[in-house]
Amino acid sequence: MKCPYCNTEMMTGVLKSGRYIQFQEIENGKKKEVAKSYMGGAKMEGCLCPQCKKIIVDISLLEQPPTR
Ligand SMILES: [Zn+2]
Repeated sequence: MKCPYCNTEMMTGVLKSGRYIQFQEIENGKKKEVAKSYMGGAKMEGCLCPQCKKIIVDISLLEQPPTR
């Protein structure tokens, strides 16, 4: 996936948290930690832009969004 901000090829990986929120790149079946910060308890697949440090993830809504 290309970054929609700078068009750099994004890393595919997993955004997860335990003690930290981490981003692990998955390359050839191996995971490599590339970023982390504080928060707690979830795991989501997504893409990280190494150039502008943006992460794109899909997240399920708990409720239907309001109609406009
Ligand atoms: Zn970018």
